[in-house]
Amino acid sequence: MLNAYALAIEAATAGAAAFGALSWVSVSPTSTFWGPVRSRAENGSANGYALTFDDGPTRDSTSAILDALGELKIRAAFFVVGENARRCPDLLSRMHAESHIVANHSLSHNHLSMFRGPGYWERELRETDRIVEETIGMRPAMFRPPMGVKTCFVMGAAARQGHVVITWSRRAIDGITTTPQRILKRLVARTAAGDVVILHDGVEPHSRRKPAGTVAAIRPLILQLRARGLEPVRLDELLRIPAYAAEPAATPA
Ligand SMILES: [Zn+2]
Repeated sequence: MLNAYALAIEAATAGAAAFGALSWVSVSPTSTFWGPVRSRAENGSANGYALTFDDGPTRDSTSAILDALGELKIRAAFFVVGENARRCPDLLSRMHAESHIVANHSLSHNHLSMFRGPGYWERELRETDRIVEETIGMRPAMFRPPMGVKTCFVMGAAARQGHVVITWSRRAIDGITTTPQRILKRLVARTAAGDVVILHDGVEPHSRRKPAGTVAAIRPLILQLRARGLEPVRLDELLRIPAYAAEPAATPA
């Protein structure tokens, strides 16, 4: 009886360890367990880093961030949520007109999406690509999974639809409400050449959060990193990969 109990405990512990390890390979931004991922430039330019923004476009905050980037003549990459993009096509057009990259960050950014299968992910990627392509005339070749969570289904859909999966090497932790001071503290001293920095210009489709901390941090962040000798370059230039597909989308079977 005791042996059976001990065996059950052992099995449960092994199961928990396996689940923990699988969670880590899915969540870690550098893990390539489920397929190739780009999180930073392996041999980037001497002083270049890339600014990337997730979860938008969101009215007000995305506009204010575009204003700040425009004033400083900086080009960034925006990983947009399809449902948000559908509501704000003017902001997508503005990103493209001002030479920023528009990239794919799923259609709905659902927090339970990590448990969904291949059909779900095919639709999430394809529909967002379609919305972007209809708006700016270019189909994204870069995809960032929501929350950075990679499963075999996420990675399979990205590979089949010709996307490079992009994560990050430096983060502001501004997907939750925070202050510009905290963002600067997290990024200014630690960012290095080759880094892909993740910030949030927008909020998920059903969230009421206001990314005011991020908006206020953009100008001081760029200027303080410039004082350290670091200059933003566009993500496709940093990683030396195309931002958009060269060919029109294949018609789904
Ligand atoms: Zn996100």
